[in-house]
Amino acid sequence: MPSPAPHRLTRQIVLAMLSGIVSGVIVNQVATAPWIHAVLIDGLLHVIGSVFVAALKMMVVPLVFVSLVVGVTALSDLRALGRIGIKALVLYLATTAIAVTIALSLAHAVGPGLGFDAGEANASFSAKEAPPLTQVLIDMVPTNPVAAMAEGNMLQIIVFALLFGVAVTMSGARGKHVLDLFRDLNTVIMHMVEWVMRLAPYGVFALITRSFATQGLDLLLPLAAYFFTLTAALAIQLFGTYPLLLRLLASLNPLTFLRKIRDPAAFAFSTASSGATIPVTLHTVEKKMGVNNSVASFSVPLGATINMDGTAMMQGVAAVFIANVYAIDLALTDYLLVVLTATLASVGTAAIPSVGLVTLTMVLSQVGLPVEGIALIIGVDRLLDMMRTTVNVTGDCAVSCIVAKSENALDQAVFDDPRAGSVEDATRRPMPSQTVA
Ligand code: ASP
Repeated sequence: MPSPAPHRLTRQIVLAMLSGIVSGVIVNQVATAPWIHAVLIDGLLHVIGSVFVAALKMMVVPLVFVSLVVGVTALSDLRALGRIGIKALVLYLATTAIAVTIALSLAHAVGPGLGFDAGEANASFSAKEAPPLTQVLIDMVPTNPVAAMAEGNMLQIIVFALLFGVAVTMSGARGKHVLDLFRDLNTVIMHMVEWVMRLAPYGVFALITRSFATQGLDLLLPLAAYFFTLTAALAIQLFGTYPLLLRLLASLNPLTFLRKIRDPAAFAFSTASSGATIPVTLHTVEKKMGVNNSVASFSVPLGATINMDGTAMMQGVAAVFIANVYAIDLALTDYLLVVLTATLASVGTAAIPSVGLVTLTMVLSQVGLPVEGIALIIGVDRLLDMMRTTVNVTGDCAVSCIVAKSENALDQAVFDDPRAGSVEDATRRPMPSQTVA
């Protein structure tokens, strides 16, 4: 049988995304009959989209736990673990600080919200409290690891998996049995992830059509300045900052990176959740970009939880927009405060749709801006959420590559190979067992 073209699936996913946008806009503008919404949008497409997201989420906890245990045991010593952790953390915080600085500079230059009539949006917003950082630190240690898994609490799962992995390494021959089991489990779970990826063209199409069909673009007009300033800032981060960092810090070809990012980018865009995208991010980073499991299994779930560059950018532009609408002057110290709070706010908040709006309350109250201002931007948030989640996930992949390269844990041949990690190829050959550095 001839071998299927590599990455046909990726092309199908991208096609599903584009046709989802077109058909969603058409349904929104033309096909407004109630039965179309009842049967198609809230019926068929809702079911397909929800099943797809559920299938993705189903894989997250087992994948992160098993993969991280295998990853930790592959490290030669505990110092390596500490080094990788610190590098990832510093890069995640630095990329977020860069992101929000870009967003603030652009927003300052463009001035979105000047002359905006706050009466145009009469939605109300009631703020939910974001947890303080001290509580985030305390909550990192699970009192019950099973509950942590049941709740999908990523930081707690990471902490437990790290400790468990270290214990496996230190437990001699018995630990070795456990490790063998986990390696096999890892292979099996990755196989399941590939099944879910095969559903992606249908799932992505359903999710995106439904989003665009229900959103409408009419809300966009009064908020065009906010919307496009943020879109431009996100594009600079995606096509400027990450490629530059990859080139400067890791001597990696940014174009190859951008070509390989398409799968997780499409998943992030359609689900608006970095958390639900973890299985695909991990698959891409390991199998397409050649990052060793010992780095990827740690940096990807950590990044999905604490690294939200796109979200921080939204908070920067939103702060300037709201300040302009309410005619409040922001001083340089306010800008610095926004950088600091937006960077810290992205740590320890769940990687789920719209959580950025919750943490935005933290940022606004820090600089003394009215929290009700959030009501003004809610109308266009879904679409921006999809875009900023794409940036969040791309940031996780870029940092994973940079950390891996610095640890000599990136297989350059895999990174350079355009065929690497093709799901079409993977399902034709038996999966190799996890390689250990
Ligand atoms: N949806 C984003 C994510 O999951 C978070 C947000 O900005 O609301 O990464």
